[in-house]
Amino acid sequence: MENERLEHIRHSLAHLLAAAVLKKWPDTKLGIGPVIENGFYYDFQFSSPISDTDLKDLEKQMKKFIGAKLAFTGTEMNADELNKKYAAQPFKLELISEYAGEGRTLTSYKTGDPPTGGFEDLCKGGHVENTAEIDPDSFKLTKLAGAYWRGDEKNAQLTRIYGLAFSTKEELDAYVTMMAEAEKRDHKKLGPELDLFLFSPLVGQGLPLWTPKGTLARNLLSDYVWELRKARGYEQVEIPHIAKKELYETSGHWDKYQNDLFQIKTREGHVFAMKPMNCPHHAQIYNRKKWSYRELPQRYASTTMVYRDEQSGELAGLSRVRSITQDDAHVFCRMDQVKAEALKVWDIIHDFYGTFGISLKVRLSLRDPKHPEKYLGTAAAWEKAEGILREIISEKGVRALDGTGEAAFYGPKLDFMGRDAIGREHQVATIQLDFNQPERFDLSCVNEKGEDERIVMMHAAIMGAIERFMALLIEHTAGHFPLWLSPVQARVIAISEKFQDYGTDIFNQLKTAGIRAELAGSDETLGKRIRAAQTEKIPYVLVVGEQEQNDKTVAVRHFKLGDLKAMPVADLIKRLQEEINKKTA
Ligand SMILES: [Zn+2]
Ligand SMILES: [Zn+2]
Repeated sequence: MENERLEHIRHSLAHLLAAAVLKKWPDTKLGIGPVIENGFYYDFQFSSPISDTDLKDLEKQMKKFIGAKLAFTGTEMNADELNKKYAAQPFKLELISEYAGEGRTLTSYKTGDPPTGGFEDLCKGGHVENTAEIDPDSFKLTKLAGAYWRGDEKNAQLTRIYGLAFSTKEELDAYVTMMAEAEKRDHKKLGPELDLFLFSPLVGQGLPLWTPKGTLARNLLSDYVWELRKARGYEQVEIPHIAKKELYETSGHWDKYQNDLFQIKTREGHVFAMKPMNCPHHAQIYNRKKWSYRELPQRYASTTMVYRDEQSGELAGLSRVRSITQDDAHVFCRMDQVKAEALKVWDIIHDFYGTFGISLKVRLSLRDPKHPEKYLGTAAAWEKAEGILREIISEKGVRALDGTGEAAFYGPKLDFMGRDAIGREHQVATIQLDFNQPERFDLSCVNEKGEDERIVMMHAAIMGAIERFMALLIEHTAGHFPLWLSPVQARVIAISEKFQDYGTDIFNQLKTAGIRAELAGSDETLGKRIRAAQTEKIPYVLVVGEQEQNDKTVAVRHFKLGDLKAMPVADLIKRLQEEINKKTA
């Protein structure tokens, strides 16, 4: 299998990295060296710090090992033998004693023999047979980072060396190019440059503040999702941002996620939590009355913030924040309505992401058949629900990725992965069934026979988190938002003071037509003002001078299409309005 082969290459390179490190600094203590997405890393404790410039040397040494065609050979050993062999490696000793305690078979892997080879590492295997199988140009050491031994900040801090590795040089180069492009598009850089959001050290890490422009874009996105939902029978509900501890004890979140909750003690000694999700609140709204089956489904939507006490080391721009705005919705329905409701959400997801030219893949996330005990809800309900999701996939005629074992403990789901303009995949939306909360909150309806019937709850966020979607969108578009979403849609620039009045006239007409337009002042040079509009990524720049004034037109420059012909203002307005209404990407 190609994937397995690549994993073996990556893992073998981790060994070669450790071997190269020991060759250069023999007193280094070795941590572990697993395979990760796109490559590998290895953790080391150096006796004195190393720097980025050392990476080239290590790379060179690794290539030498590859060229020497070293074979990987494993030998099973008992703990005593291993303790002797790794006596100078305290982290390995710790692992040996732990694994031996678990009764695991232990293997030491050797890479070739001295003088060139001879490096040995405690490992459970998964290597190439010989380093000759590795293309010496298909990997690259990329960076150093700090990491705690076994990820625990109470432990020693180690130095992690990261490497990229692919099957071929071409794949490596393509990946490096993509990453360079990604760096240019980084939302953490572009967002503040485009004046969309900021972080304030006084407000706190992971708590983004949204500027007028950013807020405008967020609201437009949320309105768009709402427009799609409203057409499918959803209703908006409003909920407070805190709730009593008891709500989360009943929902089960307190047990599982207690440490991720921001807790509040009231003056009367009660414990509240900032809501980490909206489902329990929505469930309470559902439970306000006894529903007849005829009144179902009930579909509630709220665009609202949730709060999670993420560890500061995990926070990253808008991708991982502590205040998360969800475009959340829950459908409360009977099992025989699940299909129709899930199809509606499917359509919303496709409309929404299609608008931005983000193509989607879907993963069907089901139970792990080997561990039925891990899941809540009856086997019959699971079979039914999984069957429905399968039907949806086959009706839609798409090939779903296999997500066996990826279901949540409370229900199966469809996970949507979006591919951005530079080929990266992001988890974007889910349609998730839930058998757990209906049990915990006793959610039911009265069926045809007059009996109480347990209902199903469906979680259906479209953007998921607006913050994460904004990060994706900024990077997907490189900051060039589609016209309908651009905080400033057009800027009028008069070539000199003399035509500022005509410019003002154009500006006023655009404003009256509902276009978000701006009029540039006349104190800077023309070139500077045009460049500023480009840097701010304003879609339409409208330049006016003598000829335009005489002809009653504007010269139009579009950020993607370049210079368009001069056109009468009325034509321009018509063009802009059409583009806005169609939400052209
Ligand atoms: Zn290994
Ligand atoms: Zn939910």
